Amino acid sequence: DAKRSRQALLFYNPQYDENTQLKALLRNQVPGAIARADFSMFFQPKIDLATGAIAGVEALARWHHPTLGNIPPDVFIPLVEQGREINAFSRLMLHTAIQQAKSWQVEGKYIPIAVNLSPYNLLDNQLVEFIQRELEAADLAPELLAVELTESATMFDVNLAQRVFTELRDMGIKISIDDFGTGMSSMSYLQILPIDCVKLDRSFIENIQTDKVAHAIVSCMVSLCHTLGKTVVAEGVETEAQSKALREIGCDQAQGYLFARPLRVNDKELIDWFRAEVP
Ligand code: C2E
Ligand code: CA
Ligand code: CA
Ligand code: CA
Repeated sequence: DAKRSRQALLFYNPQYDENTQLKALLRNQVPGAIARADFSMFFQPKIDLATGAIAGVEALARWHHPTLGNIPPDVFIPLVEQGREINAFSRLMLHTAIQQAKSWQVEGKYIPIAVNLSPYNLLDNQLVEFIQRELEAADLAPELLAVELTESATMFDVNLAQRVFTELRDMGIKISIDDFGTGMSSMSYLQILPIDCVKLDRSFIENIQTDKVAHAIVSCMVSLCHTLGKTVVAEGVETEAQSKALREIGCDQAQGYLFARPLRVNDKELIDWFRAEVP
């Protein structure tokens, strides 16, 4: 019957087979990749909209696979999470970010680095201690480290998120809520969780100059966040018109291809951003 042939089709779909096989293969390679640190960190500048200067960077991971080339994080992060290697992976990222922020600090560049964390990292009851140790070992000012978590990351256990955020914040680390506005309970999280910064999801920014509703939502979220004393970052800014609208609304910072793509640490473009920051 129709249902059976649909199932058969799905089962024999070569694309489907190829994808699942590839994913299984990749998943098995995750532990080795972590052990060899086959990842690199790219840095995307966050721009202060009032001054045009760099306000910090977001660390974005890339997997350099020996035969498949670069694998994007949207593909490999879920595999790392499934393989339960996410704590080791995030520790690797945190370590790398802290070392990088330190070497910039030594050069007189005070550039905060934001590291993306996975929801599973909140379950690592030694995460806070690990970060504390790493900061002390590098002798890095904690203000130079931020962590980004999506609202959905905090959703499965709000009390846990609250506890971890409070501990990190007491150490002086900044907390950002990522992809803000895409979840169902964004507003209540602002009320419950101790956070410093809200990152407005790209989907709101995309239509900001053409869609009155999108514009109104961004404008309201910015003023709400400011009332609560939080910094607002707009994600995925690609056009000058979007940037102008955000400046007029009073959004604090922006990130996106208009300003810079994620860049390698030694990329001249990144170094030029730093030069603009340091007088
Ligand atoms: P995210 O945290 O929301 O990061 C922003 C993503 O949007 C990045 O993709 C960035 O390259 C991209 N982007 C930046 N500006 C623009 C723009 O103007 N237009 C468009 N279309 N895209 C822009 P990327 O690097 O591929 O990362 C994708 C996601 O993977 C990240 O989304 C984050 O959730 C996750 N991720 C990346 N690195 C890490 C990591 O080290 N740990 C964890 N747990 N997740 C990571
Ligand atoms: Ca992020
Ligand atoms: Ca985001
Ligand atoms: Ca995202």
